[in-house]
Amino acid sequence: MTKQALIAGGGIGGLAAALAVARAGWVVRLYERAPLFSEVGAGIQLGPNVVKVLHGWGLAGALADVAAFPHQLEVRSALSGESLARLPLGEAMVQRYGAAYATVHRADLHGLLLNAVQQADVSLKLNHTLSQFTQTADAVTVQTADGAVIEGDVLVGADGLWSPVRQWLLGDGQPRATSHLAYRALVRQADLPEALRSSQVTAWLGPQLHVVQYPVRGGDWLNVVGIVEGKSGDALDGWDHGTDAAGLRAALAGTCSPLQDLVHAINHWRLWALCDRPPMQGAHQQALGRVALLGDAAHPMLPYLAQGAGMAIEDAAELGRVLVQALDPALDVPTMLNRYALNRWERNARVQARAIRNGEIFHADGVVRWGRDASLKLLGERLLDVPWLYGGP
Ligand SMILES: Cc1cc2nc3c(=O)[nH]c(=O)nc-3n(C[C@H](O)[C@H](O)[C@H](O)COP(=O)(O)OP(=O)(O)OC[C@H]3O[C@@H](n4cnc5c(N)ncnc54)[C@H](O)[C@@H]3O)c2cc1C
Repeated sequence: MTKQALIAGGGIGGLAAALAVARAGWVVRLYERAPLFSEVGAGIQLGPNVVKVLHGWGLAGALADVAAFPHQLEVRSALSGESLARLPLGEAMVQRYGAAYATVHRADLHGLLLNAVQQADVSLKLNHTLSQFTQTADAVTVQTADGAVIEGDVLVGADGLWSPVRQWLLGDGQPRATSHLAYRALVRQADLPEALRSSQVTAWLGPQLHVVQYPVRGGDWLNVVGIVEGKSGDALDGWDHGTDAAGLRAALAGTCSPLQDLVHAINHWRLWALCDRPPMQGAHQQALGRVALLGDAAHPMLPYLAQGAGMAIEDAAELGRVLVQALDPALDVPTMLNRYALNRWERNARVQARAIRNGEIFHADGVVRWGRDASLKLLGERLLDVPWLYGGP
């Protein structure tokens, strides 16, 4: 018998879920409140665990057309510029984990997922804000802001950091503001002086700040993200603000000249206030009854492990795996969603916790910074590699 999935949100997580669930043989209707499908102008890193999922969906070619595949990650001191550690990426990741480490423009990743979703015959509704839902033992019903009532067998809340679906399901309040601010920029490599162009991932670590840079769009563009610790009153209400990066430049006073040169060479920046939630506490935070949470709706995290969208994509793959089984009349939908939750929540919690820890290590000062740098120089690759993560769930 045909089963119907309703998805709230058309970001990377919602599109990935729509693709996986449609491929599982379900009829999928996706509702996005915005008038257009779009992503912010910034980059995103995808570990081999995520690239492998995309390959499994037949998107290897589409990804290769738009991504860059950096040959290494290098960690440098933001203060002295010294190289502290290196992790080979590229072919080394393929050998170790079965897929490369990719860096991609978010709009390109979003676009290739959207294209695949359109080919999978998913019904896509823009300008549709889901305003509430109810669930019974047999169905879930959502209402749109204009009063339409839609029934399905499953509701997937892929509606992001401020997820209304999460609030209806769990009622556990808003995400926490961290006072960490992210300055993001994309610049054409050809517009940078040659010494500032780069084909690798570089992380610059400094007291209360770090900067990450990597190529996107086949290496033609460079993505730069600078994170600084603001004061608690700095938390911005919204999400994406234009800025001249004066705050970032001020925070970088005293750092090495290659880093300052890079930041000064870029004029257009966007500013984000970073929010997260504490690591997940249990499976009930990932699914209850006929409602599943996915991506930032379930486990918003600091971007210090570069895996927020990655975990959304892994969630989507697992959702597809359990929902294909839920087509069997002997297996009921809530039981299968519970299996999805059980299979996902601990890994998501571990990634959230590691992202928080990374923030403390990246931004360390004093004796902790000294110890961090000494360990990186001694153990380098062993500290930077994350086998439990990159090897996949
Ligand atoms: C500075 C920074 C750097 C990052 N770097 C990385 C990285 O390198 N690698 C990585 O994997 N992750 C990274 N992330 C995390 C990643 O961006 C997020 O985890 C990911 O985009 C979340 O996707 P999502 O689909 O869950 O949510 P979103 O992208 O927020 O999508 C939610 C969608 O739901 C829609 N919506 C909301 N409410 C409703 C409603 N009521 N009805 C209908 N639609 C609704 C919204 O309009 C939106 O389109 C980074 C994040 C930041 C801030």
